[in-house]
Parts: sequence; structure tokens; C-alpha cells
Amino acid sequence: MEARKFRKVMAANRGEIAIRIFRACTELGISTVAIYSEEDKLSLHRYKADEAYQVGKGKAPIDAYLGIDEIIALAKKRDVDAIHPGYGFLAENAEFAEKCEQNGIAFIGPTAEMQRALGDKVAARKVAKAAGVATVPGTEEPIVHEEDALIFAKNHGYPIIIKAAAGGGGRGMRVATNQKELLEGLQSASSEAKAAFGDPSVFLERYLKNPKHIEVQVLGDGYGSLVHFYERDCSIQRRHQKVVEFAPSLALPGDTRLALCTDALKIAKQVGYRNAGTVEFLLDEEGRYYFIEMNPRIQVEHTVTEMITGRNLVQAQILIAEGKRLSDPEINIPNQGSIEMRGFAIQCRITTEDPTNNFAPDFGTLTTYRSSAGCGVRLDAGNAFTGAQITPHYDSLLVKVSSWGLTFTEAAHIMDRSLQEFRVRGVKTNIGFLENVITHPVFLAGECNTSFIDQHPELLV
Ligand code: ADP
Repeated sequence: MEARKFRKVMAANRGEIAIRIFRACTELGISTVAIYSEEDKLSLHRYKADEAYQVGKGKAPIDAYLGIDEIIALAKKRDVDAIHPGYGFLAENAEFAEKCEQNGIAFIGPTAEMQRALGDKVAARKVAKAAGVATVPGTEEPIVHEEDALIFAKNHGYPIIIKAAAGGGGRGMRVATNQKELLEGLQSASSEAKAAFGDPSVFLERYLKNPKHIEVQVLGDGYGSLVHFYERDCSIQRRHQKVVEFAPSLALPGDTRLALCTDALKIAKQVGYRNAGTVEFLLDEEGRYYFIEMNPRIQVEHTVTEMITGRNLVQAQILIAEGKRLSDPEINIPNQGSIEMRGFAIQCRITTEDPTNNFAPDFGTLTTYRSSAGCGVRLDAGNAFTGAQITPHYDSLLVKVSSWGLTFTEAAHIMDRSLQEFRVRGVKTNIGFLENVITHPVFLAGECNTSFIDQHPELLV
């Protein structure tokens, strides 16, 4: 790959991640292009870029950000050198990555081929096996006949988790504790997967009891250099979706951390991984870990990794797409040892959801928006300002608050103080709920597992 310097980068996304990308570009001296839908014509990300263009006229709000041909045609017309897809929308769409490259626009992410090797969970499990990394016991192939599911149940027992091969965001998953639930779950997970991802394939895994979700951030330059940035603990989840994340984990003895991070690199190496990616594992109550999937994109919770390592992952993504090597001075990661970890970081996702009404999304005008600031706080906000319109069209993430402290307790106290400082009026938020989580003794001990929220209904009041 020939190294070049980008002059103009487009974010094919909206909200906080589009703004995050623009900031990284501006710091690198690259000019920025936003796209926005009709519904987003007053959204902040539009105004945070040097240029902004409306896309998807007459299309549904989500579809506006999914128009591959329109977005690429616009990028060409406006002399865009590269497109960053953020997360969600087109971030894991191999066709988009391929078409960008075919049109002479760099795709800031892995190649289409790598996306295909990892995007399907069944395929990714095979990659892990080939790399010699343990996966959760499960079926090798998607379930075609009910009998295959029943045989798996006979051999492994219940509970079983039914998962969409193409799944993401916690969708297309069902837990079955008996045969009836298994057979019904196969049907419903498969239809949900078809509707959400256009692919009805589902497979089975043993459902681990109270695991922790631990994931490793990796970065590769496509020339053979691959490093990890240690792990994040994303066990605090609701409906299999992350709510609070922190780094590093408090549950890993040093030798397990080393083994886990090394295994993450083995999986990335197996596909010659380029750019930023995340290798996800579940850690069981006995301290054993198993690979579940690899996400070939930047993730919402990358902020905590940036805070404990002092590295700018989005800038590194852009520089890698320019053809730079990890060892080049701009990226400055000559080897694994040059990534240092210091202190603890916690991220809370503030959403416009009502915890007292089953987290129903709330809409309207933000009549007051005052955010926190001060020592140890980082904010990554989307459309958050007094007067902003919160619409029902997109996900409900309002602002990501991250805190950093030398100790986990210090980071938690800063987060608590930071959440208390927020004043958001006009639209309901989950701030009170987040405060209940991060002041809970189980959280402060770093011991939450993926069942924590379900097992503590008192957090909701
Ligand atoms: P998605 O791609 O939809 O995010 P993942 O495979 O990453 O799905 O799983 C999301 C979450 O679902 C995990 O963090 C965990 O809480 C739960 N989960 C997934 N697989 C299992 C399993 N085999 N046993 C127990 N929980 C699981």
C-alpha cells in the first residue's frame, strides 16, 4: 500500500461518533465532510464539519445513512479522499468498503474480505478455532434442521443461547431453558435475524451462567504489525447491550490478562487484520474465557481505552488508512511494549430513555442542557445542547461520559460527581439509573457480571 496524506475525510455517520471523527481529522490537519438526513438538518454533527451535505431525500431516516451509491457519489463529487464509517450504519458492510476502494476512496477500516471473515459469528468462530483460541461450546454450522438443535441440547444440556450468525446490538438472541423454548426460540430468533440483518441463519451456544464480558482492543497496520491495547470490561448490560464500560478489568489476574490479550492478537493475525478491531470474550465464574466474536470497527466504548493508554485510536485508524505503519512517527507504536496502561477509566452512556418506564425512549426539546466538566472528565456528545430536538428516529445515545482516575475508586468518584453535575430538562434520561449503578458496592468492587442489572431491580428507581 502506498502511503498518502488525506486532505478531506467524510464521516458516513451521525451523532457523537461523527463528531469524534471530525475532531480527530481536524487535529491531523484534514478537512471534514458531514452527511445528514432531513431529520438531522438541525443536528450538531452537521455543524461540526467543514462541509455538510444532505443525503437520502425522500428516504426513511435510517436509510439516509445507508445509501451506499449516493454517499460514494457525493464523496467523489466533493473530492473526499477517505470515508470513516464510525459504528453501526455502514461500518460493517463489506459491499460499502469494497465500493469505496473501487471508486478510489479509502475506507477507514479493515478490508471487505476481513469484514466477511469476521462479520458472521459462525465464520468468526472458525477463525478462532483455526487460531487455537477457545470458543463457547456451540454448533459448528447454522441450524438447518430442528433435530440438530435437539442433538446439541442432548449433548450439552440447557440453558442454550440461540444467536443470529449475522447478529449485532444484542438482536436475534434468545435463551432457552427447555426444549419448547428452544424450538420456539429458533423460529423467533431466525425471523428477527432475517428482518434485522437480511440473514435468517442462527446457531447455538451453551449459555454461560453469569459471565463477564471482557474485550480486547487491537490495532493492525496491514504490514504485519499488530498490537493490543489491553481489555475493557463491558459486563454491565441491559438486554445484552452495554450500559457502563471500564478499563482495565478488575477480574483478571496478570497471567490471564496476558493470555487473553495474546489470544486476541492470534485471532487478528489469523486474518491479517488491518485497522482497529475488538475481540470479545466471555469470562466464566471459574475464570476461564471463551471467544464470542470480533467486531471489525471502532466501538462506542473506545474512549476508556484511549484514557488508560493515552493513545488516540481514531487518529490511528486514519493514519493506517493513509498507509502508515504502526512504527511510523505519526503513530509511534514501534512494538507492544510502547503501549502503556495507566490508571482506570469508566464510561457511562447517557441516553434519552426513561428507566422507570422500561427504558422507553423519550423525545422532545432539551429545555436545559448543562454538562459536567473538570479534572478527569471526558465528554463525547451527539446532539446535546439547550434547544436541541431529540427525535424518535435514531438511537437514544445523548452523551458518553468518561472518567479517569489513578485507581478504580477514584475514577468511580469522579464519574459520580460528573453525573451529579449534569442538568438535563425537557427529555427524560437514564442519569439517575447510571448513578445507582456506579455507586453500587458490587460495581465498586469491580464484580458486576452480565446479569447484574437484571438481578438488581432496585437500580431502576
Ligand atoms: P452482539 O453481536 O449482538 O452484541 P454478542 O455475541 O457480542 O452479540 O453477545 C452480546 C452479549 O450477549 C454478551 O456480552 C453476553 O452478555 C451475552 N451472551 C452472548 N453469548 C453468550 C453465551 N454463550 N452465554 C452467556 N451470555 C452470552
